[in-house]
Amino acid sequence: MTTILIQGCYIVTMNAGRTEYAYGHIAVSGNEITSVGPGAAPAGLDLTGARVIDATDCLATPGLVNTHHHLYQWATRGWAPDSTLFGWLTDLYPVWARIDEQAVMDAATAGLAWLARSGCTTTSDHHYVFPRLGGDVLGATVAAARQVGLRFQPTRGSMDLGASAGGLPPDEVVEDLDAVLAATDQAISDFHDPAPGSMVRIGVAPCSPFSVTGELMTEAAALARDRGVRLHTHVAETADEDEYCLEHFGCTPVEYLDSLGWLASDVWLAHGVHLDDAAIARLAVTGTGVAHCPTSNARLGAGICRTADLVAAGVPVGLGVDGSASNEESSLLAEAHQAVLMARATGGPQALTMRGALALATIGGARLLGRDDELGSIEAGKLADVALWRLDGLGQAGVIDPVAGLVLGARPPLELLLVNGSVVVERDEVRTVDEAAAARSAAAAAERLHLPASDAASA
Ligand code: ZN
Repeated sequence: MTTILIQGCYIVTMNAGRTEYAYGHIAVSGNEITSVGPGAAPAGLDLTGARVIDATDCLATPGLVNTHHHLYQWATRGWAPDSTLFGWLTDLYPVWARIDEQAVMDAATAGLAWLARSGCTTTSDHHYVFPRLGGDVLGATVAAARQVGLRFQPTRGSMDLGASAGGLPPDEVVEDLDAVLAATDQAISDFHDPAPGSMVRIGVAPCSPFSVTGELMTEAAALARDRGVRLHTHVAETADEDEYCLEHFGCTPVEYLDSLGWLASDVWLAHGVHLDDAAIARLAVTGTGVAHCPTSNARLGAGICRTADLVAAGVPVGLGVDGSASNEESSLLAEAHQAVLMARATGGPQALTMRGALALATIGGARLLGRDDELGSIEAGKLADVALWRLDGLGQAGVIDPVAGLVLGARPPLELLLVNGSVVVERDEVRTVDEAAAARSAAAAAERLHLPASDAASA
C-alpha cells in the first residue's frame, strides 16, 4: 500500500540510462520506492491513507551519499585556518585528545542535521581518535545518526604510530595495536547490520600512512575481510605525505597500500589527490574507490584531485565533505558544485558535467559503500531515500535547466528529505531533532574543547 506519493516534479532518477522526467511521480510504500515515471501516478495505485505531496516547481533527486567525514570535528571548526594538513593536524591533535562521548554526540548530532539539510540521506564517518577516558565515542556517533535519522556507515578508525615511533600524532592520541583490533571487532559485533535496507553498517579504517603502522594496516584488512565489512583510509592527500612515504617506505602512498593488500573492490580511499597515471591504472584494475573531497583539499591547499582522469579510467568515485575542521561548510551539495569547478579549472569546461557531478554525489557514493543495488537512484525496488528541492525561489527561479540550478546555483530550499521512507527534513527544517538546541549543544562542546587541558579538568 502506498504511504507517500510525490507528484508534479522534475525527476532525475540516476538510473543506468540516466532517465529524467520533466513532470513525474514517485510512489513510496514503507521504506521502498514502488513506482517512478512520467506524469501522474498510474491508475490502480492504492492511495488509501497515503500522504499525497504536490511537488510542483520542485526537483526530485536521489538522496545524496557522503563517503567521507569526521563528525566529531564539528566541535573544532575554524582552527588553524591557514595551515597545511600536517600543520593543521599538529595544532588539532592535542585538542582532539580532549573529546569525550558527550562532545562527540553533540558534534555528530549537529553535523548530521546539517548534512540532512544539504540533501544527504546516507553518510559515512571516519572516527579515529579514542581518548582513554573518553567513553564510547563511536557509539555516540551511531546514537546521533539514529536520532537524526540518517543512514549511517561509521568506520572504526585508529592510529598506533605516535611521534616517538616516527609518526605525526603525539603519543597521547594513539592506541595499542591489539586494543584497536579488539575494539574494532567489538564495534562490528555491536553495530553492524548486514541485512538489506540496513541503517547502520560498520567499516574498518586505520587513519593514514603517517599515523598507522604497516602491521595494523595488514591486521585491520584481515579482520575486515574475515567479518565481511568494508575498508577505508586516507591516502595521497598532500605532497608532504608523498615525501613521508618516500622517506619511510621508499615508494608512493598508493604503492605502499598495494604492498599491504589494500587495493581491492572492498576498499574506498579518501582524497587521492596526488596520483600518477600508474596509480590511477592500479585503482581502476583493482576496483578501489576514491572519495573526492574538493573543499577540504582546497582549504588545506593540498591540491586538486584528477577527478576526470579517475572517472575516465573507470575508478569508482564518490564525494565527501571530509571533517568539519577542514570544511566548515560540510554540505554535500556544495561538494558537487566544487567538484565541477575544480575539475574544470584544471581540465576545461567538459572535464565534469553537472549531471556527472550529481552522479558522483548519489549513485557513485552508493557504489563506494557497496550499496548501489539499493541506494543512489530513484527506481522501483530501491530504498526510499529521496531529496525534493524547491526551485521557485530567488536562487533558482528561471534557471533553464533544473540540474544547473541545483549543482551550479545557490543551495535551494529542501522541501522534503525522505530517508528509508521517513521524513527527516521538511520545508528546509530538520524534523527529527531541534536544530537550535543542536546548535547550542555543539557550540558548548566546542567551548569546552577550547579550554587548556588543565582548566578542562577542573571546569
Ligand atoms: Zn579525512
